[in-house]
Amino acid sequence: MSFEIKDKDLLGRIGKLKTKSGTVETPLLFPVINPNIQLVTPRKLKDTFGFEAVITNAYILKKRFQNKPVKQGVHKFLGFDGAVMTDSGAYQILVYGDIEVSQPEIVQYQERIGSDIATILDIPTGWKITQEQATKTVTETLKRAKAFFKTKTRDDILWVGPVQGGRHLDLVAKSATEMSKLPFQVHALGSPTEVMENYRFDVLVDMILTAKRNLPPERPLHLFGAGHPFMFSLAVALGCDLFDSAAYALYARENRYMTENGTWRLSELDYFPCQCPKCVTATPKAVMAKTPKERETFLAEHNLHVCVAELKRVKQAIRDGRLWEHVEMRAHAHPALFIALKKLKTHEDFIEKYSPTAKKSGLFFFSHVSLFRPEVIHYRHRLMERYCPPESARVLLLAPQTRKKPFHKAYEFNRIKQVAKSLGEELSYKIHVCFYAAPFGVIPLELDEVYPLSQHEIVLPLDRETVMYVANQVSEYIEQANYEAVVLLHDPEQWDTTVKTKCAKSCQKKGIACGVVDIKTEGSKNILTCLEKVLRKHLSE
Ligand SMILES: [Zn+2]
Repeated sequence: MSFEIKDKDLLGRIGKLKTKSGTVETPLLFPVINPNIQLVTPRKLKDTFGFEAVITNAYILKKRFQNKPVKQGVHKFLGFDGAVMTDSGAYQILVYGDIEVSQPEIVQYQERIGSDIATILDIPTGWKITQEQATKTVTETLKRAKAFFKTKTRDDILWVGPVQGGRHLDLVAKSATEMSKLPFQVHALGSPTEVMENYRFDVLVDMILTAKRNLPPERPLHLFGAGHPFMFSLAVALGCDLFDSAAYALYARENRYMTENGTWRLSELDYFPCQCPKCVTATPKAVMAKTPKERETFLAEHNLHVCVAELKRVKQAIRDGRLWEHVEMRAHAHPALFIALKKLKTHEDFIEKYSPTAKKSGLFFFSHVSLFRPEVIHYRHRLMERYCPPESARVLLLAPQTRKKPFHKAYEFNRIKQVAKSLGEELSYKIHVCFYAAPFGVIPLELDEVYPLSQHEIVLPLDRETVMYVANQVSEYIEQANYEAVVLLHDPEQWDTTVKTKCAKSCQKKGIACGVVDIKTEGSKNILTCLEKVLRKHLSE
């Protein structure tokens, strides 16, 4: 296997990809080298910025330099001894409609120049096209992919099987399913550039996850043209392992300054929000005064520093199990990114299936958006599918979450314990205490120390959606279990009446007794009275 996964969070992974020029670590960014204009030399990309790989365009090399890269080999030609990936000219097809090279020619050319990772000549789907046109691009790309295996001669190159279909998700699914049957080492999602230019990151989420659902998880996925650091964490979280960026140079040409939260025009900046080696000694004014060429180089280098730094943060977030928090933080950079984050709800089960849910760190929940993070979904499934209350449990005592965790160590719980004790052993034995708590819903007492039920922090007061979620979980739990009565301790300071109402409705539906005690106004005496009333009425022989 050329790809080995070392660490995971969400669908993101840190991996080792073996190429004939050495092993590289993913998630990996390939800066795009335009052989015509070298703003930052490939050598500098490696020595100064630490890039292990670059990508260049085999079609442009062939057209412009013909045999020179063949004679020298692409590494020597570029002056780069890391991994070199080549694209085939598919992007030029998208822009110009057609190109002057056939698939066998460009495959052979990539073999002759010695690319480490090379791409077949796929037909990009693009953005504004009909289902019918999109179908044609998928069919033709698949035809070429199959034909390619009859013409390739080198096995030491990692070949990329691109997935097309654009925003037509049925076609993306078909394309990915068929591509995965072919022995490619790497896959790529084609033509997302226009989706990203239109800021339709929500569509991108659907495209990437549709591809991921239908591709072998052990093969790395490249996202073509995803070069802006503000969306790296999202793309990585969705399972993209490889990226290329021409944006660092394209933006530099337009005097645009990248940050991990978006892009600024150089002329709009009074301060550089960056401590990279370029920015630390410069001011926007001074850079504006440079010659256009100097300015472009300055910006290209700064943009690269920003990309490198953000990718390192994303990797560290994977290691720490905090990728969700990182994605959520970046999603606040632009509403379009936040829409994309919300879109994850429609894929929550898939993400949960492949995400590690045990972590070394606690979780931070900021809002209802966290309700579809995998740890929450995982717990809900486990509780509903696998959990059985103790056999002695006849009455469910639902207590609200406390600030202190685990809840059973909180002062408030002591009071409940005393109340139960004063009922006498025989009766207290029949009480099953569960907590209702955001974001996990119902937490049985005996589980409240299990990760991550105590190992998290949540923002109070809870937002409306979160309260509703917890209320629904309470409902579902009561309706599934076989208690004979429920006593709900209601905390009016933290909870509105939603949980109370839902709880009463579910009890009514089940035909079981329901008692509610307002713990702030009524106090422990009433908890006792209410519990006693319910217990004696329903349980005493
Ligand atoms: Zn900088």
